Amino acid sequence: MSAPNKPYDPVAVAALGADEVARMQADALAAIAAATTLDALREVKVAHSGDRSPLALANREIKALPPAARADAGRRVGAARAAVAEALSVRGHELEADRDARVLLEEAVDVALPWDRAPRGARHPLTTIQERIGEVFVAMGWEVAEGPEVEPEWYNFDALNMGPDHPARSMMDTFFVAPPGSGRVLRTHTSPVQVRAMLHRELPLYVVCPGRVFRTDELDATHSPVFHQVEGLAVDERLSMADLKGTLDHFASTMFGEGLRTRWRPSYFPFTEPSAELDIQCFVCRGESVVPGAPPCRTCASEGWIEWGGCGMVNPRVLVACGIDPERYRGFAFGMGLERALMFRHNVADMRDMFEGDVRFTLAFGTEI
Ligand SMILES: [Zn+2]
Repeated sequence: MSAPNKPYDPVAVAALGADEVARMQADALAAIAAATTLDALREVKVAHSGDRSPLALANREIKALPPAARADAGRRVGAARAAVAEALSVRGHELEADRDARVLLEEAVDVALPWDRAPRGARHPLTTIQERIGEVFVAMGWEVAEGPEVEPEWYNFDALNMGPDHPARSMMDTFFVAPPGSGRVLRTHTSPVQVRAMLHRELPLYVVCPGRVFRTDELDATHSPVFHQVEGLAVDERLSMADLKGTLDHFASTMFGEGLRTRWRPSYFPFTEPSAELDIQCFVCRGESVVPGAPPCRTCASEGWIEWGGCGMVNPRVLVACGIDPERYRGFAFGMGLERALMFRHNVADMRDMFEGDVRFTLAFGTEI
């Protein structure tokens, strides 16, 4: 004879008894009250209201009860879980309010602290002078061109009428790129940009090329192995030296002052024929220091003129190397060093100041835009 069916198993019911549920709720509420930080409260929430918490496990047991007992146990467990959830929410808000109040106190801004410990920078004069030169020429309808700093020797020398045996080639103090015989150099002038422009752009051509160039010079007060040049090139029909002279006079007066004259002295460059050294009238004394008895001028050493760069008509051999018909087209070109222009324009005594990155140097030039 079997024992009569009991309404439910007392072992399974133990977790769902009123005392037991009340104890779980009391444990949870005590832990919530004891949590003093939001992190601690998060842990309490996992322990007492998460999926593995005693009340969640008890809730799962309800399904195992006989139907008659389910509603009663469900109400009890449900009420306990709601009470725990409510307590978690209330405590959470309290702790958040505490934290916000503490942040306001601890992170208060001390307006008496010094604010200018990190000095403000300024744009480097080499950058601003390149941009100004670009603007002068763009206003005349020219284009600004740029090119790579490592160039095949052909672009740096051969195309510019400096073949392998040309003496000017060895005078250029060139950095050759490893390995030996690679045929590549750090460009010794910005002229390779002009070669690229002649090869790849449509004619007529009016380009100005500012950029960094490299020569094996020692770094001293007036030399640097890295320096900046700007070169200009025009290729068009019926160009003459008068066009070159007019362009350079306009360039000189916009850069150094209205009415300053330029002069040429005969010279030689492989890539121009005829070629000239370019001088600009001293912008400080305007040439008056050469008059006997006049006060001496430090900027031009009382010569009245300052060496500025070189220029000339593009050698027809260069045009031919770049695929341009010299019977139809002629070109003129000019170039000058930017550090040198800055040195005499702003009385910078030591070129090294331009490369050392000391913000006190650039600040003196202001924040010209
Ligand atoms: Zn002078």
